[in-house]
Amino acid sequence: MISKIPKWVGDLFEGTLRPNARVLEISNISSRIKKIRFEGNISKMNFQIGYANVLRVSETEYRNYTAAYHDKEKGIIDIIFHIHTNGVGSTYFDSLKTGDETYIGPSRGKKIYDPSIKNQFFFGDETSIGVACALLPLLRSNNQQFQFYFELDRENKNVPELLGFENFTVFPKDGSFRIEKWIIDLPIFTTKDWNNANFALAGNVKSVQTFRKVLKNKTQGNVYSQGYWLEGKKGL
Ligand SMILES: Cc1cc2nc3c(=O)[nH]c(=O)nc-3n(C[C@H](O)[C@H](O)[C@H](O)COP(=O)(O)OP(=O)(O)OC[C@H]3O[C@@H](n4cnc5c(N)ncnc54)[C@H](O)[C@@H]3O)c2cc1C
Repeated sequence: MISKIPKWVGDLFEGTLRPNARVLEISNISSRIKKIRFEGNISKMNFQIGYANVLRVSETEYRNYTAAYHDKEKGIIDIIFHIHTNGVGSTYFDSLKTGDETYIGPSRGKKIYDPSIKNQFFFGDETSIGVACALLPLLRSNNQQFQFYFELDRENKNVPELLGFENFTVFPKDGSFRIEKWIIDLPIFTTKDWNNANFALAGNVKSVQTFRKVLKNKTQGNVYSQGYWLEGKKGL
């Protein structure tokens, strides 16, 4: 995915990339997680679970973020940002204030939810809490069995509860999800209930890849996975 475009390309498309959304409300869910509500014309956007919007974070740089909630009639889109403080995107969204204008591109990407499957499992971190928020009401209204596993920094451990999640387990972000032997001992592998589940994995590339490998070896379920960030890599 393109995260940086030359300035002259940006200038050429300035008309189409100009600010099209306004910050309506900012909520600090934790010291490092912000929910921002934007208002704009989103009527032509196609929101699917797993799709992301490309947001402009500087004159030449763009980053992917996910709608946690949207209302096309009201022209509202909520995005949950991990303010990790290492990058231009994180710094930019931390600096936004109510009334500021910004550019939100169309929604596109990879679907990670198959509603026809009864048991649904989701693994993620701070970067995928947004997609988990979009998924939760669908799991409830479709009467599905579901389980969320989140690996989170200590300051964010209460975030799933604050956002109204149920059936979730929070794990410390200590590298455990990069150890196959540790993953195999997790409760989802000790019962047959999850053998044919829909597995959606999104977050740190290394955690997602390791978890995916174990799921592919140990279950018969569909595994949808996408890395959202990788140490040392800008703008996945
Ligand atoms: C499809 C998709 C959907 C996404 N949805 C969301 C979303 O809804 N909310 C969200 O917060 N993020 C989301 N992300 C992740 C986000 O795009 C990346 O974290 C992005 O790298 C942030 O840009 P940045 O400019 O802050 O950091 P970058 O300039 O891209 O990276 C600079 C440095 O920061 C590190 N870094 C990047 N992200 C993190 C992080 N989360 N924690 C610690 N270090 C990090 C990088 O490894 C690099 O070393 C999504 C990514 C994808 C691909």
